[in-house]
Amino acid sequence: MTVQALNKGIKAVAFSRDGTLNHNPSTSQKYILRPEDLHLLPGVAEAVWAVRRAGLLPFVFSQQSCVGEGLITHKELRIIHGQMQQMLGEDARIEKFYYCPHTQAEECSCRKPLPGMLLQMMKDYNLEPDEILVIGDSARDFSAAKSIGARFVLTAPEQWEVVSALGSDSLEVPAYADVHVAVLAELQNISLSLPWATAKHHPTSAVAI
Ligand SMILES: [Zn+2]
Repeated sequence: MTVQALNKGIKAVAFSRDGTLNHNPSTSQKYILRPEDLHLLPGVAEAVWAVRRAGLLPFVFSQQSCVGEGLITHKELRIIHGQMQQMLGEDARIEKFYYCPHTQAEECSCRKPLPGMLLQMMKDYNLEPDEILVIGDSARDFSAAKSIGARFVLTAPEQWEVVSALGSDSLEVPAYADVHVAVLAELQNISLSLPWATAKHHPTSAVAI
């Protein structure tokens, strides 16, 4: 499937969570288990806000096997996501947090690299694969996006070789320094198709590109 080209009809952005929006857990901890251990990466609130401002829907899709392992309950995970939302602020509201709570042994269809969470998102919001931009920091994020034919951009340049090896010669995998840079670059590319792009007093209309 080749839907790697930038589609100007992007309607939704699906962010991976740990390592993309927030710092990965410390090396002694495999998971974020408490709200106080959640720390956003730089520019994340601005990035999600920019997605909202562009009229697109921001989602989180996240692997949280800590639930299946019994380290945390669904309710406790929702509290962590509530904390993330509070840190992001009202203008950067996440439309919905999708997560896979299962362990590998459960053989579910939502565990990345499988695309179950993205498929559910498509069903819930009536989205087509080429209307979704997936932003993540790992090969499994890429594989999930690729398997439905969604565009993927990488926020961990050091992973680029690994991720690119999973693609094909024709499959472009843009890599950006962080999620804010990724969102701004991608939005700039699709902005010509957005309704506000033609507004006379659009805030970025003075920016030469
Ligand atoms: Zn699952």
